[in-house]
Amino acid sequence: MPKFDSLSSVQEAIKKGEISCTALVKHYLQQIKNSESLNIYLEVFEEEAIQKAKDCDLLLKNEPEKLGKLWGMVVSIKDVICYKDHKVSAGSKILENFESLFSATAVERIIEEGAIIIGRTNCDEFAMGSSNENSAFGPVLNGVDPNKIPGGSSGGAAVSVQMDTCLAALGTDTGGSVRQPAALCGVLGMKPSYGRISRHGLVAYGSSFDQVGIFGHQIEDIAILLELMSGPDQYDSTLSKREVPFYSKMLNYDKKPRIAYYRSALEHPALDGEIKEALQKQLADFRQSGYEVEAVDFKYLDYMVPAYYVLTTAEASSNLSRFDGIRYGYREQGAGSLEETYTQSRTRGFGEEVKRRIMLGTFVLSSGYYDAYYTKAQKVRRLIAEETRQLLSEYDFLLMPATPTPAWNLGEKTDDPVEMYLADIFTVQANMAGIPAIAFPAGKTKSGLPIGLQLLSNVFTEEELLAFAKKVLQS
Ligand code: GLN
Repeated sequence: MPKFDSLSSVQEAIKKGEISCTALVKHYLQQIKNSESLNIYLEVFEEEAIQKAKDCDLLLKNEPEKLGKLWGMVVSIKDVICYKDHKVSAGSKILENFESLFSATAVERIIEEGAIIIGRTNCDEFAMGSSNENSAFGPVLNGVDPNKIPGGSSGGAAVSVQMDTCLAALGTDTGGSVRQPAALCGVLGMKPSYGRISRHGLVAYGSSFDQVGIFGHQIEDIAILLELMSGPDQYDSTLSKREVPFYSKMLNYDKKPRIAYYRSALEHPALDGEIKEALQKQLADFRQSGYEVEAVDFKYLDYMVPAYYVLTTAEASSNLSRFDGIRYGYREQGAGSLEETYTQSRTRGFGEEVKRRIMLGTFVLSSGYYDAYYTKAQKVRRLIAEETRQLLSEYDFLLMPATPTPAWNLGEKTDDPVEMYLADIFTVQANMAGIPAIAFPAGKTKSGLPIGLQLLSNVFTEEELLAFAKKVLQS
């Protein structure tokens, strides 16, 4: 079986009779078995996926007009995205064996178009982490080198695409959880503007940041998935009412864009030398293509990560208060009173990092500290968002590294949460400002680890971003 890297090549091969949809799904199931040691999936929907593939083959034969746009597309979903009558555990013991009562709007929309969901992927607990080592079900390993982390929190999703166990994956990106693992695994990862894709059916982490994101090999696949998942939904009032462009039909970019990059990012002492070289090479390529490329300064770079962690932990502490051992999820047996049930269920049900964040978030929201931390961080966010949007009205795109370093060794940063948080330095800005961003592969280090760069564009300009990213990848 060839390795398919786009939906169009899958559909063409099936139409020509070179493979069937059933054979394709069986191939992916075999790939999942072959890569079991990487701990990518928490559950594989084997029988169901085969059945759906058979249905697809039948439809193709008998009623091809009934096929949706995504027929033949096999997709994995991160374990924070609900799929009716299937388990969703958010990588946590506290939700182990919990079954979704409804599907996330994003999932519903791609299923309607014929996508086949092959399984749910491992992730950091409640999507909190940058290395996938915070999953209650063990870390995911990077398929390029199993001694390395795949990035997080959607590490399973990134590796599921990297290892050819599906064509595309849905993850979530609150502060980089799609783009960072995509970069560390050598695949594409895109986060749309806040308010583009419904959050209905996501296990919430930081509600004013969370967005569904997409992993794939080709811009075309990202574009079609985005197009079909986006748009109004009665269950998410934060969605934009803007019409959803036909992203997949707008992939020709023929302008000469103005591109900005941060001088301080390029000169940052924490930036890995080989990533710096990749960034410089990309900037040189842009110049050679006749694009206007300029170094700019961004005053608030150093405040990005601290403000992000104040705000997201605050939102998380509130979002996670529903996991109390009573309403659903893990309940500590033998607790003597209601209060003990709450305390012990939460103490045993949540992992260390989640508890750290709940405490931090509770602290920054507590009276006496609220203004000093939470209100201040909101103000910083506003400044960052305004400045970012201003910058992106002067330039078409911002080019940045996706990560300061390539994938690191398992266990290397687990003892130092602050160091782990700093790995998000280049990804949180897009979430703070609510703008779209895409991480794309830009070569490898000498030791063979993927390098990822990132393009950002102004809010709700996904069509420009995707079209330009496609051009960059082709050149
Ligand atoms: N690494 C970041 C965090 O831990 C981002 C997580 C995410 O985007 N879900 O918060």
